[in-house]
Amino acid sequence: MSGPPRWPVHPAPTDGEALSSWLRRIAGCYGTDTEHLGDDIGYKLGAGDLDDIDMAPRPGMIEVLAERTGVAPARLRQMSVAGWVPWLLDDMDPGTDGFATYTRQLSVLRPAGKHKARLVPSWRPWLPDRLPARGCPECVAATPSPHPYQLLWAIPIVFSCPAHGCWLEATLAARSYFGMWDFDRPAPRPAPQQILTLDQRTQHAFALGHVDLPRRRVNAGIWFRLLRTVIDELSCPLSENRPSDTGTIRQIWKEAGYPARDGQGLWRPYEQQPETVQRHTMEAAAAAIALLEAGTVTGRGTHASLFLPEPYREIDNGKPAKENPQEKAVYPKPLRQALEEAIQASREDPAEAQALYNFALIGCRTPESVTRLRADFAELGIPLETMSPISTHASFA
Ligand SMILES: [Zn+2]
Repeated sequence: MSGPPRWPVHPAPTDGEALSSWLRRIAGCYGTDTEHLGDDIGYKLGAGDLDDIDMAPRPGMIEVLAERTGVAPARLRQMSVAGWVPWLLDDMDPGTDGFATYTRQLSVLRPAGKHKARLVPSWRPWLPDRLPARGCPECVAATPSPHPYQLLWAIPIVFSCPAHGCWLEATLAARSYFGMWDFDRPAPRPAPQQILTLDQRTQHAFALGHVDLPRRRVNAGIWFRLLRTVIDELSCPLSENRPSDTGTIRQIWKEAGYPARDGQGLWRPYEQQPETVQRHTMEAAAAAIALLEAGTVTGRGTHASLFLPEPYREIDNGKPAKENPQEKAVYPKPLRQALEEAIQASREDPAEAQALYNFALIGCRTPESVTRLRADFAELGIPLETMSPISTHASFA
């Protein structure tokens, strides 16, 4: 039995590319548009539909595309927001207490449990009603038309391109279309180092499934929630905080160069703020993290210690060291134990599996050693089908 014909020519998805962008590029290969490409696979792919599929592809569409292109379904799923459940968001369908679950379980600047309860109906983290159309002028200039478009550019969780050190710019056209830029490309504007550092960590979370903080590695799910928690703490009406915490929050906004809460009178969730307020708030979050890491401000939340520098280690003087139970949890564990835990976590958590795989891949110098590595993973019971092919197609120069 043979399935539908494969598309003989198609570009491979680029790292972090959005599904709509890749489909436009495939259509470009055949000298057609996505609407006709959609007819070929039995899905509507007009301009409005492309917006939707970057959020969540229609049921069955991923399987059809996988069959036509040979790209693994797991890889294709990650090209839409829905593929990032439960890391970026708990669920695509907003629940009634989603806001509290996502933003109030961790605490950084304010003590845990000292927040005014807030019910935000139909709320989803990071996702405005309409995803923004932005891009990095340098990344776009470096690629042929139709230029690949990164999914992250559509999510106001990053604002800059760490690779080029500049702000993302509005494309002035529907997402994934850079027609205006071919005539009049915006000049790249340098972004401050603090926001580049923050966005680099977020990019890392998307690409590798984890972020290395000064004291320990946290998985992508924790990182996204940690960042959204800091944003919530910086955005709440100041009167809801204790005076000492208010002082810290004012200091952070001042450091970022904006009035507290970016001068907003009424409280609205970050996702519903105008783009400029979102950007200023993210700059404040970047300033908060830099100040915490420098020890200039002290967070009173339970998870503020994640941003403290590595603890000072005394040179062994031969006496048994006194144990500090608070620090015990963040010291590296003996390698063997850490490895066993990583293997166990990888069996249950695709992001952990990806991180472990990427790490192990560093030692692979030949295609044969990658095959051996994959056999080892299979033997350990770590599912391989969730692995991003970005890493499985290692190049051997
Ligand atoms: Zn760039």
